[in-house]
Order: sequence, then C-alpha cells, then structure tokens
Amino acid sequence: MSIQRPRSEQLYAEALEHIVGGVNSPSRSFKAVGGGAPVFMKRAQGAHFWDVDDHRYIDYLCAYGPIITGHAHPHITEAITCAAANGTLYGTPTEFEILLARMLKEAIPSMDKVRFVNSGTEAVMTTIRVARAYTKRSKIIKFAGCYHGHSDLVLVAAGSGPSTLGIPDSAGVPGSIASEVITVPFNDLDGLRVALETFGNDVAAVMVEPIVGNFGMVMPKPGFLEGLCKMAREAGALVIYDEVISAFRFHYGSAQTYSAFSDHAAIEPDLTALGKIIGGGLPIGAYGGRKQVMDQVAPLGPAYQAGTMAGNPASISAGIACLEVLREPGVYERMDAQAARLADALQASADKNGIPLTINRIRGSFSAHFCDHPVTNYDEAQDTDGERFGQFFRLMLDQGICLAPSKYEAWFLTTAHTDEDIDATIAAAENAFAAMVR
Ligand code: PLP
Repeated sequence: MSIQRPRSEQLYAEALEHIVGGVNSPSRSFKAVGGGAPVFMKRAQGAHFWDVDDHRYIDYLCAYGPIITGHAHPHITEAITCAAANGTLYGTPTEFEILLARMLKEAIPSMDKVRFVNSGTEAVMTTIRVARAYTKRSKIIKFAGCYHGHSDLVLVAAGSGPSTLGIPDSAGVPGSIASEVITVPFNDLDGLRVALETFGNDVAAVMVEPIVGNFGMVMPKPGFLEGLCKMAREAGALVIYDEVISAFRFHYGSAQTYSAFSDHAAIEPDLTALGKIIGGGLPIGAYGGRKQVMDQVAPLGPAYQAGTMAGNPASISAGIACLEVLREPGVYERMDAQAARLADALQASADKNGIPLTINRIRGSFSAHFCDHPVTNYDEAQDTDGERFGQFFRLMLDQGICLAPSKYEAWFLTTAHTDEDIDATIAAAENAFAAMVR
C-alpha cells in the first residue's frame, strides 16, 4: 500500500537546512508517528489536499481546526481578495472590526467587550494578564492536557498532585513562572477543591477548555463546569474559558452556549479566549468578557496589550465571511450526520478486526483512541496505543486520508466533505484495520 513521495522527501531535506526541524510548528513533524518526511502540500480545495508529488488526500486535519468550511471557500476567498485589494493593513480602526465583534458578542453573550489579537496564544496569554490585573492575584489553575498556546505560563505540567505547584514543560520557562501555575486533572472537582483550598487566596483564575480538543475531544462530565465556576467564584477567582477550538465548532456559538449544557447561566465564564475558526483560515485571536473585567485593558485600564497586525482587514473579513457561511441553516446538522456515519463505521470496523478503539465524538468532530477504556482525562488519553495510532496514521495517509500526526488530535469534518469522501474514508479505514491485524 505504501506510496512514494520523492518531492516531499527532497523538500524536507532542504527545509531541514533552513527551518528549524524543517517545520514551522512542531505538531507538523512526523516525530510522533515514527518520523520521516512530513507531506508537503501545494494546493487545497474543499475537503481535499494535493501534495507536491500530485497525490490527492481527503483532509481531516483541517489545519488543526480553523478550516471548517473547507479550503478556499468561494465566499471567504472573495472576502480576502476584496480586503487585499483595499490595502492589507492600516494601523487605524475599521468598520469591519465592529461587525465581527458584534457577531461574536451575539453568539457568545458572556462577552460584553471584545479585543482582537493575532493568535490563540495571544488571546489566552492576555486573558491571564487581565484576570491578574482584575483580581490583583497571581496564580492560575489549569487542567492537565489542556493546551492553551505556547506562552510561558501555560507551558507548565502538573506537579505530583493537585496541591503542588507546576514544573516547566519546556526549556526556557523559569521555575519561578511555573510556580505560579497549579495543574489538576480534567473532570476532577475534588482535585480542584484541594488546589483552591491550598492556594485559593492567590488564585487569579481557573482556566479550562470547556470542551477539550487537545487530548482528543472530551466532554466535561455532568456538573463539572457548574462546580468549577462555583468553586472558582467562592475563592474569588475568575473563570477563563479557552474556546480557541470549541467556539463555532459544534454549533453557531461556543461551548458555553452549547445545548448539551442545560444551565448556561451556571457555566458562564468571566473571560473567553477565541481563535482558529473566527479567522476563516487567516491568523486571528480574540478575547472578551464581562465589561468590568475587560475595562482593565489599555487604553481604558492598566493591563497593557497591543498588536501591529491586530484586527487586520483580511483576517477580520475572512472571519466575517466564515461565520456567514456557518450561520446558514443545516450546516452543523450536516457535519454532525456525516461525522456520526464515519465514526460509527470506524468503530464497527475496528470491532470486527478485534482492534480496541474508543471514539469520542462531539457533533462534526471526534477523536479515535486506540484503547479499550473511556477517555475522560489526560491520563486516560496518554494510556492509549501510540504505536498503533502511528501505524493507522500511515496506512490511512497512503490511501489518501490526511489525519493529524498525533494520537491526541481530533478529526475535523467540514461543510465541504461529501458523502463520497466519507465512503472513501470508511473503505480506507477498513483496509487499514485489516492490515493492522495481519
Ligand atoms: N488554545 C487552544 C485550546 C488551542 O487548541 C490552541 C492551538 O491549538 C491555542 C490555544 C493556541 O492557538 P494558536 O496556535 O493560534 O496560537
């Protein structure tokens, strides 16, 4: 089944000479799936990619989340082209920024005020600064396995328990910064209680991906977000939701307004970080929240945050166009139905071949874990078979199915995936599972 990609091999060798590790984000390397050259793509349209050796792929990576309307969607392309023709950067306010801010506020009512930045990393980093400014406290509680970008404070792993301080997860993050972070297991309110009892008076914010997208797709257990919000507030801390993946992924809105949660008032955060989908495939981030909290931000308040590229017309126009596509009736229902068909078929095929597989599906996206137990937290996600995933990943890639090269990443459906794409993916997975048994 193995196919050759000589041009990708050649470009990778060249890239290694000039770009560190040959990639501009470590998640793009194939290190976690047995190494070798990643596939160099040259073109994308709808749900498909073409590589530099002219192989076609059905895309479920979707750029790690932003590409929800498929590649080069005509409405978004037109918006970007129009923005480019009118000049890409002014350094002044524009009317478009107000329009996108309004759209976000309508969909996510906990945000009274919004500020645009350039990436999810920036958005999260700034919510932490704002929370610290507002509470005049310094510590942050986060949950193991939730990824919040690459700023120092959130590149911190758990200590040996919920009542201990974190240790740096990356070289270059000082221990003094890690000591400002407490990491507890996701879905573990007892762990959060212990952390708050130990450090409560110093905790500025409890930060969480309300629906996790970074160790597979993982729903909070019933009552987890309610308990988290209640306990955080009793301790005088703010609640920050990192919705960089989850906003506009499952419905036209965010996790905090998703219908799976019955009491939306009880799970409302003080601050929300956004990114990915809201830029329609161009660089963007945004954060927002309650007016009193957001009024901390310069030029109104003492918490400084700025950006030369922030709110640039192309990103904002692409974001508006993307949300316009997503707000059409039936869009999410269709992705939901296609993902259900695909996930059910994957499960059936794995079962038939005796391969343990746990699928966590939330509407149009899911994660497939090679294990025979549920995945509800990071420990359980780690306790899955990475080698098997690597084998599956390559078998799928060689049949023209592009997944993220990591056992922790989700499969994303788009509005562009067709029934034929789903059929082809099911057939490829059947071949892959059968080959894995032999
Ligand atoms: N927060 C979450 C939940 C993410 O998944 C990511 C990126 O994958 C980020 C923040 C960082 O976003 P960016 O890569 O745009 O900096």
